[in-house]
Amino acid sequence: ACLLALVTTVERLAAADSFESIIAIVRETARLISGADGVTFVLRDGDLCHYVEENAVGPLWKGRRFPLTACISGWCMLNAKSAVIPDIYVDPRIPHDAYRPTFVQSLVMVPVRAENPLAAIGSYWSTVREFSDTEVALLEGLGRSTAAAIAAVQARETLRENEERLRLALIAGRLGAWEFDLGGGSFSASAACKAHFGCEGDAAFSYEDFVSAIHPDDRRRQVHALTEAGTTGCDITSEFRIAWPDGSEHWIELRGRRVSEDTGGAIRLAGVSSDVTERKLAEERIERLQSELAHIGRLAEFGQMGATLARELTQPLTAAGNYLKAGRRFLGSDKLSLNRAIETIDKAEAQFQRASDTIRRIRGFVGKSEPVRGAEDVMPMIAEAAEIAQINPKHRKVELRFAMEDGLPPVLVDKVQIQQVLLNLLRNAFEALDGHAAPGVTIGAVRDGNMVVLRVEDNGPGLSPEVAAKLFQPFVTTKAQGMGIGLSICRRIIENQGGTMSGASSSSGGAAFSFTVPVATS
Ligand code: ADP
Repeated sequence: ACLLALVTTVERLAAADSFESIIAIVRETARLISGADGVTFVLRDGDLCHYVEENAVGPLWKGRRFPLTACISGWCMLNAKSAVIPDIYVDPRIPHDAYRPTFVQSLVMVPVRAENPLAAIGSYWSTVREFSDTEVALLEGLGRSTAAAIAAVQARETLRENEERLRLALIAGRLGAWEFDLGGGSFSASAACKAHFGCEGDAAFSYEDFVSAIHPDDRRRQVHALTEAGTTGCDITSEFRIAWPDGSEHWIELRGRRVSEDTGGAIRLAGVSSDVTERKLAEERIERLQSELAHIGRLAEFGQMGATLARELTQPLTAAGNYLKAGRRFLGSDKLSLNRAIETIDKAEAQFQRASDTIRRIRGFVGKSEPVRGAEDVMPMIAEAAEIAQINPKHRKVELRFAMEDGLPPVLVDKVQIQQVLLNLLRNAFEALDGHAAPGVTIGAVRDGNMVVLRVEDNGPGLSPEVAAKLFQPFVTTKAQGMGIGLSICRRIIENQGGTMSGASSSSGGAAFSFTVPVATS
């Protein structure tokens, strides 16, 4: 009968959903298991034993607290051992004064939880009696089951708290949650996640709905990212466009990873979604602003070069005019052959060509254009920028060398903007080389994986440590006329196009600036 009572109790304890109900179950059933005249449930409360509940033929200590060291339940919890006492009045561990008003003559006290007990269950008899091992074992079984039930309630409580925390975090971060079973194809999404896809909270939302909501241009990449995460376990971070039913376009960011791969081969992915439309629009605005800034930079460049430019164009035009005059003279005199006249007119034509080439190049460079990216060959792009940089005859003294790796692939860039960067670097190099006896600049390009690294190195004085430390910050300049924004714009331009930029003193003592641009993939 006792064993049956224990089994029933264990079952009830396993189903308990709160600490209070566990105590109530123990209170109700402990006497059935032990056949005792009274039971107590004692909780450890710091240095005290708190007699929280009892069920007995006469009053015991319900609601009272005693020091751990001054009572038997304390001894039991401190030693993590059962106390079996056939006659309390001959056991020195018992505070006899506390027992005298009660019916108790003998007792068994068992700990709840093997390590660091958090409670004890006491059973009391009104007679002096011996206890069999089986009786003690039954009570200890009750102690262990109670401990297990408390652990389960605590675990559920922790789980609930964590879920609540997660829920709050999702709300605070305006995140949606999603989960996807790659094998079975089942897909579940929180209301917030569905809202990101323009779907009402209680409407069904399947994996197919998810995929078809994605902009057709982004769809394949996104599906690939999910499959890839499923097979390799790499993180998912992707951004894509979706069109809401009301026609507006939104940018959604998806982050997640593989969360399990059980033996059945089911692969589950889970993560969060967020609406990053505002950020995307801000990024686009910044890119437009930067492109405008770069345009202004180009105009300023040529504003400064106005006088040089006038001279540069006047020279070939004057030469051409003189050749034409000479040609006319040759034609008028019959002593001279037609050939010499043709030769002179050819020369005039070449000078006109030179002047109009210069004008064309500058027009292409100064003209305002939307940022456009396309596949560009590296060498012509660099050569053109170098030519523009050397329009000023003062800079033609600098020996320009090119160090191009063979077979460089085309790069995916906005050509004019990259030329703007090159022009800035060259102008800085030329200025640093002012007065140098043998000024030289090397422009190099090598492939590095999916990028091409471009490098402009001069043999000037190099960068001082102070300047090097904050090179790309705006308004850092050592020049009387300098604005100190050239390099900061350059870096922004390069980063916008998916590259990185750095600068340092080179091993040969001059300054070297490198930046990367992505290889155009067919
Ligand atoms: P600015 O040319 O208007 O000063 P930049 O941002 O282009 O603005 O350059 C910032 C500073 O970096 C320059 O003032 C100069 O001190 C240093 N610098 C840039 N390029 C070189 C170089 N090739 N050699 C030495 N110093 C350089």
